[in-house]
Amino acid sequence: MVIEYASRTENIEYAIRDVVVMAQKYENVLYLNIGDPNKFDSSTPQHMIDAASAAMTKNFNGYAPAEGILEAREAIVEDAKKKDIKCTTDDVIVTTGVSEAIELALSALINPGENFLTPNPGYPLYTALVSKLDAQLNPYDLSEENNWQPDLKSIENAINEKTKAIIIINPNNPTGSVCDKNILSQILKLAAKNNIVVFADEIYDKLVFYEKHVALASVAGDVPVITFNGLSKSYLVPGWRIGWMIFHNPNNVISSYTEAIRKLVRARLCANHPLQYSIKPALLGPQVHIDEFLNKLRQRGAFTEKRMNEIPGVKCNPITGAFYAFPTINLDRFDFKSDKEFIISLLKEEQVLCVHGSGFGRPNAFRIVFLPPMDTLEEAYNRIERFCKKHAIG
Ligand code: PLP
Repeated sequence: MVIEYASRTENIEYAIRDVVVMAQKYENVLYLNIGDPNKFDSSTPQHMIDAASAAMTKNFNGYAPAEGILEAREAIVEDAKKKDIKCTTDDVIVTTGVSEAIELALSALINPGENFLTPNPGYPLYTALVSKLDAQLNPYDLSEENNWQPDLKSIENAINEKTKAIIIINPNNPTGSVCDKNILSQILKLAAKNNIVVFADEIYDKLVFYEKHVALASVAGDVPVITFNGLSKSYLVPGWRIGWMIFHNPNNVISSYTEAIRKLVRARLCANHPLQYSIKPALLGPQVHIDEFLNKLRQRGAFTEKRMNEIPGVKCNPITGAFYAFPTINLDRFDFKSDKEFIISLLKEEQVLCVHGSGFGRPNAFRIVFLPPMDTLEEAYNRIERFCKKHAIG
């Protein structure tokens, strides 16, 4: 007997984890592939662990309200206010990571054959959801020449009568770039003109190196925005799976849509109950760990950029946020034919694991996660440099 799987799974790829299978064959691999800060020299603030553990002891182990516990939603509203996002607890839904928030928000919006604009390069969960929802892939470019800023012309050209939303990832994964305020305003204008919702994936908003992050919802005016955020990255708990979405719903233009989201939210019962008690202590408690984390990231990001730009045939744009670099490779100057071959050979010959750019939509690049400590990065970049010199042609 053979059971056939659903064809919608055929195009789903998650390169970040797919490459790990290859790496398991080798010893002493330096892993620069996964954006999990807890794998290196950062760990969860103790007061968050205490709050979650106290909640379990108090037997808050049953189901939570579908939209999340009030205490957590109040803290999310307080935190949003600091970023000039106006909202009430009714605008907030706590989810199983940002991943679930994204899936719920898109599932309640997109009919088969419709589309939402995804950044290219961009985070692969969005393209996986295109397949899951039987939607049409509709990417827009981030401009390599303009430090990976969203390309307004490309957005304008991509919008069609079946476009319902645009995704902005700011700071961006995989590029480590932060959007200019001016470009955000232009995107909002295009959204207003074309009647589309803006999704602001701001999971890295507290990991901006040199300036203050501008929350899209804070400058959106009459344009509806759904903001995604969570504890995974800045609060060092990716395994806790705690995220949320916040509705910016001017003049109630998305009220029937948010009600559709709520239906899906009720149907999946709730996000992890006891861990929701860590949200208030995280957002409103001491933030020292963020400064410490940011100091490390600034140093490691600058080092990554410098070392990559020293390699002939490799170019890395300025890194201004998150913990990713996305150097481009001039394939004409090396003896491998594709970004994937580059990544596989690098693993085989030097035991360094990065992710090929095509996993994010760009076949002439690769992604580095610069979370490891400086000595590991130094060793990894020495190996990458040696590898590139060995494979240079001309
Ligand atoms: N959005 C972006 C841009 C990400 O980079 C990630 C994780 O790497 C997520 C969402 C998923 O976040 P969560 O752990 O909250 O599901």
